[in-house]
Amino acid sequence: MAKKISIIGAGMSGLITGIMLAKYGHKVTIFERNNKIGKKILVTGNGRCNLSNENISKLQYHSMTSNIFDLVYEQFNLKQTKELFEEMGIDFVKLENGKLYPRNLQAKSVVQALLMECEKLNINIIYNVRISKVTYTNKFKITVDNKVYYSYYLVIATGGKSYGDSGSTGDGYKIATQFNHNITKTFPSIVQLKTDYAYNKTLKGLKVHAKGKLIKILNDKEEILREDEGEVLFTDYGLSGPVILQLSTKAEPLLSEHNSLVIELNLVTHMNTKELDNYLIKRLHRLSYRNVADALNGFINQRLIQPLLKSSNIEPTISAGDVTKIQRNNLVKQLKTFRTNVTGTYLWNQAQVTKGGINCLEIHDTTLESYKTEGLYLVGEVIDIDGDCGGYNLQWAISSGAVAAKSINEK
Ligand SMILES: Cc1cc2nc3c(=O)[nH]c(=O)nc-3n(C[C@H](O)[C@H](O)[C@H](O)COP(=O)(O)OP(=O)(O)OC[C@H]3O[C@@H](n4cnc5c(N)ncnc54)[C@H](O)[C@@H]3O)c2cc1C
Repeated sequence: MAKKISIIGAGMSGLITGIMLAKYGHKVTIFERNNKIGKKILVTGNGRCNLSNENISKLQYHSMTSNIFDLVYEQFNLKQTKELFEEMGIDFVKLENGKLYPRNLQAKSVVQALLMECEKLNINIIYNVRISKVTYTNKFKITVDNKVYYSYYLVIATGGKSYGDSGSTGDGYKIATQFNHNITKTFPSIVQLKTDYAYNKTLKGLKVHAKGKLIKILNDKEEILREDEGEVLFTDYGLSGPVILQLSTKAEPLLSEHNSLVIELNLVTHMNTKELDNYLIKRLHRLSYRNVADALNGFINQRLIQPLLKSSNIEPTISAGDVTKIQRNNLVKQLKTFRTNVTGTYLWNQAQVTKGGINCLEIHDTTLESYKTEGLYLVGEVIDIDGDCGGYNLQWAISSGAVAAKSINEK
C-alpha cells in the first residue's frame, strides 16, 4: 500500500530519499525553504560536483558518537549509486585520487537530472517554506500557510550548518530536539584554517605545492593527526587549498582543548633534508656574486624568499657567499618543516561540511529510523557523520537517503 511521507529539505539526501520512495510507489512531499532544489549541490566540487569516490572505506568518515557509515553504505554502495544516477542520464568520469564526477563536469546537470526524476515520479515539492515545527500524536503534522500535511513518516534531510547561504542553517537540529534527540557540539570541517603567521597578508594568494601535516602538541609531545600532499594556498587570515581542507577534518574539536595545533609544510618535496642542504651549499657558492635573495631566485617562489629568509635570520641583502652554516640550516628547516600555529577554523559559511550533529547512538544504525520516535528518519549531513574531502559527503547523503527509503518501504 502506498505510504505518505514528508521530507524536510531538497538537498542530495532528501532528494534521493524522495526519489527512492516514489520509485517504490509511495506518495512523497518535500518541503524546501529555497525556491529551487539542490542549491548546495550546485557549488560542490567547484561547480563540477564530486559525487563520490572509487576508494571508499569507513576510515574516510568521522563521528563523535558512533561511526555507522559501514552499516549504511553496505546497503547502498557505489555500484548502486552509479546505477541510480546512470538511469537518470548521469554518466561518471574518474579524475584524480579516485574522485568521481558527472562526465560533463557540470553540477547543474546533476541537479537538473534530479529535478526531472522528481517530476517524472510526481514528487510534490513545496518551495519557499521554512519548516520550524512538526507536531506528532500518532502521525506527523506540518502546517504551511494554513494547509495541514499529515504523514506516518517524516524524514529530516535539512543538512547541517555549513555553507548557510545554501539554506542549511541548523534547522534540522531544532526539529530533531522536538523529538528529544540530542545534538553534539558542531564544528565547521573541510574548511580553511586561521594561522598566526606574520606574513599571511604579504603572501595572500600564493599557491605552492607542499606536503602538509597537522600536528597536535600537548606538554611538548607531538602527534601527527593527518598528512596530505598537494596545493596549499596562502590567504590573509591563514591557509587554504586542498591540503589544508583535508587537514582541517582533524582540527576541530581539538582546537577547543588545551593543546596547540600546528601546520607543518614541506615546501621542497623532491629532495630530502640532506639533499637540500647539499644543493644549497652548491647553489649559494655558485651564485655567491649575488645577494642571497637573488641567489634563491628560480628555486623558491619569489614571494616566499623574503619571508623565509627573515624567519631564518638571514638578511636578504647579504652576499650568498656570506651565509653561515647555522643560517643555511635555518633555511633548510624553514623549507622542509615550515611551521605556523593554527588559531582557529575559518567561517561556517565557507565550510563544506559540519562535524557533529544528531547523536548516532539515538538512530537505528541499519535503518536510520529514530530510536526516540517511530516513523522519524534522519539522513545526510544532519547526522553526526562527516566525510573527508573527495566525494565522500555526497556519497553519505546518497547512501543514507536510499537506506532510509528502503526501511520505510519495508515497514
Ligand atoms: C562549497 C562546497 C563544496 C562541496 N563539495 C563537495 C564535493 O565535491 N563532494 C562531496 O561529496 N561533498 C561536497 N560538499 C559537501 C556536500 O555538499 C554536503 O555534505 C551534502 O550536499 C549534504 O547534503 P544534505 O542533503 O544532507 O544537506 P544539504 O545539501 O545542506 O540540503 C539540505 C536542504 O534542506 C533545506 N532546508 C534546511 N532547513 C530547512 C527548513 N527548516 N525547511 C525547509 N527546508 C530546509 C536546505 O535549503 C537545503 O536545500 C561540499 C559542500 C560545500 C559547501
